[in-house]
Amino acid sequence: MIPSPKKMRVFKKSFWVTSKVLFQGDSALPTGLYEYIVGELDDFYAKAFKYIELDDDNVTTVAICLAPMHKKVPQDYYLLKVDPHEILMAAETPNGLIHATQTLKQHFWDTSFNQIDEYDTGADMRCLVIEDWPSYPWRGLHLDVSRHFFDYKFIRRYLDWMAALKLNKFHWHLSDDQGWRVESKRFPRLHEIGAWRKEQDGSRYGGFYTQRQIKLVLDYAAKRGIEVIPEIDIPGHAQAILAAYPELACFPKDFETLNVWGISEDILCAGKDSTISFLKDLFTEIAELFPGQYVHLGGDEAPKEHWKACPHCQKRIAKHQLANEEELQGWLVKTLAKHLQGLDKTVIGWDEILDGKIDSKPIVMAWRGDGIDAARLAHDNGNRYVICPNNKLYFDWKQSDFKDVPGAHGITRIRDVYGLDLSKYKFEHKKLFLGGQANLWTEYVPDNATAKDLVHDRLYALAEVFWSDPPDKDYEKFWRRSFELARFI
Ligand SMILES: [Zn+2]
Repeated sequence: MIPSPKKMRVFKKSFWVTSKVLFQGDSALPTGLYEYIVGELDDFYAKAFKYIELDDDNVTTVAICLAPMHKKVPQDYYLLKVDPHEILMAAETPNGLIHATQTLKQHFWDTSFNQIDEYDTGADMRCLVIEDWPSYPWRGLHLDVSRHFFDYKFIRRYLDWMAALKLNKFHWHLSDDQGWRVESKRFPRLHEIGAWRKEQDGSRYGGFYTQRQIKLVLDYAAKRGIEVIPEIDIPGHAQAILAAYPELACFPKDFETLNVWGISEDILCAGKDSTISFLKDLFTEIAELFPGQYVHLGGDEAPKEHWKACPHCQKRIAKHQLANEEELQGWLVKTLAKHLQGLDKTVIGWDEILDGKIDSKPIVMAWRGDGIDAARLAHDNGNRYVICPNNKLYFDWKQSDFKDVPGAHGITRIRDVYGLDLSKYKFEHKKLFLGGQANLWTEYVPDNATAKDLVHDRLYALAEVFWSDPPDKDYEKFWRRSFELARFI
């Protein structure tokens, strides 16, 4: 199984898988949860046992129980028992039951994949007891939909992969220099103009999600215990916004949504009051559209050359007695964070936001290099942090040095992801370390197949590191388990 459960006892007795499944849900289950679990198991059961002739004289019973445990248990704990005649899934939280469902699916898969007898007359599943819970509350996966656009149907597949491995935070990078991807009722030029770019061969490329599609994705994610984190990257990586509303720049001109990769020098002006009110209104719309706790406002890779020359930016620096342009970015982050906190949101930013003397409220994503220095800075400033070191968890990097493998930049093997040593990111206040995520930037990921190729195998390692945090890592054993599950997601 992946991620491997915290406690598992396997018995010699077997549970004989039958063709008839009877689900029993208790009355405490919230609306939709029971239907979701039954639907997941039914679909999966049909898929896993498609080619096996199952015994149809008896009934398989699956009891689903949401109730307080008889002992104190960790957050999102679940219990899964497979007895000779019944399967029991029990948890205190819906997320616990959602995770138990995935574990049971893997056990079914293991049964159908590995243990079919030679006459194909049926399958027996080993009886077991599993008690399991996550080591870290943040187990995330990111997708850049700006450089390449992935439609909302693909997003649902992406969420399926995450759910299968108990990942719970989907970081949706919705805007960048090369494209804006959200239908905006408040600022429609964003999707009318900013969502499209003229490629160098003259063709038009782009797309955006309608608000209805976004709600469908949010609903799909919520059923799977996944929280969606929207990212609107500011003040840099914002040329698509400037293409739609050029007056938000320090020096307005006819901007075009960028059609080359790299970092644009044209960023939003932090000195103009009109830019600040635009951003507040925009983030209000985003906060309403995405009802979750978090909003990510980027903050990375913002060249400050224009700010140095801009009278509005310099006036703001003087007025607030800021030391330099980095502190102006800190002021901007603080201003928007305060606005979003007023809307009951927690702000997240890339680790550059620490350069601008922020307070301890935002969550910091430590990405540069191995992320250890940024994690330490965040910790010492009292900020909670999530790690996504670009030399280990950037899944757009190649997986090997073989010729013609997809990906960009350096090489991150599955072994590197699995070998990530989390103890290097733990300091005095351990609760500030929320967990980690992998990022898929898509400059060199033009289609769904490449995205799957890059994410698929390394996702198993990511899930095991942040869910199980295995005390004694054995890569060979992990790899064998991963191989057995190769077609599971
Ligand atoms: Zn300016």
